[in-house]
Amino acid sequence: MKIDLHTHSTVSDGTEPPADVAAAAAAAGLDAFALTDHDSTAGWAECAVAARGLGLMFVPGMEISCRSTEGISVHILSYLHDPGNRALRVEIDRTRESRLIRAERMVERLAEDFPISWQHVAKHVTPGASVGRPHIADALVTAGIVTDRSEAFTEILTPKSRYFVSHYAPNPADAVALVRAAGGVPVFAHPVAHQRGRVVGTHTFSEMIDAGLLGLEVEHRDNPAEGRQWLRQLAQQHNLLVTGSSDYHGAGKSNRLGEFLTSSRTLERIEEMASGAAVVRP
Ligand code: AMP
Ligand code: ZN
Ligand code: FE
Ligand code: FE
Repeated sequence: MKIDLHTHSTVSDGTEPPADVAAAAAAAGLDAFALTDHDSTAGWAECAVAARGLGLMFVPGMEISCRSTEGISVHILSYLHDPGNRALRVEIDRTRESRLIRAERMVERLAEDFPISWQHVAKHVTPGASVGRPHIADALVTAGIVTDRSEAFTEILTPKSRYFVSHYAPNPADAVALVRAAGGVPVFAHPVAHQRGRVVGTHTFSEMIDAGLLGLEVEHRDNPAEGRQWLRQLAQQHNLLVTGSSDYHGAGKSNRLGEFLTSSRTLERIEEMASGAAVVRP
């Protein structure tokens, strides 16, 4: 079984609509995949229909943007939570609204030095999507300022840049607890991806584990080899699931579907532990 549990669509910062992500998953030879858009479940229904038609298993998911008390960005993958859960909805709605205001503020700052405006960015955002820096990157590409999203992230859009503005995001342990209360399975996404920015220390891992964290995304291209070994040990110590996934963003990133995989045993365990939503089978 080829299982990839981390992908994005135009519901957040991927470049393909949910049905096209399902088609790409089939074309990549996957048997099962999860859609994990940032702070939104709006792609689940379309993906479920498309996956059924393609004979694929679909795992509804989401990637929750969080920020630790030290101001470090943390992403938590949530699988099979109840999308109607009030408390979780309130948090992700708040984050999505803040993402929009934050992007507008970043564009105001960028407009002082570059020929871009909010209208240019808006052209790259599907209505209702979770807006992120990749959408600003797309406008910088269209304006000919950078050649691709990656180049935009090296200087202009990094957290160290003077154009950077942060958005509201819940504390990671609080988000873990919210996911559990919504019947979902929380997995810490790319926990040691330090080329993206600072990563959290052991006490934040402990807080998340105490709050009910159930897994670590160990196999991810942004986790360096030494970090993966440490994560595997941590998973063993605390009886956490270990996942591997691509973090596919369509044409927005070079990550290829199926470049890292999750075992069928782990997907079974996710299904057993979840009570908020069901895996969609063909
Ligand atoms: P934001 O959600 O606004 O904080 O933007 C972060 C998102 O940008 C990440 O979740 C990735 O999807 C994307 N991203 C980060 N680094 C890069 C990169 N080098 N190239 C393309 N996309 C990136
Ligand atoms: Zn993303
Ligand atoms: Fe992420
Ligand atoms: Fe992601």
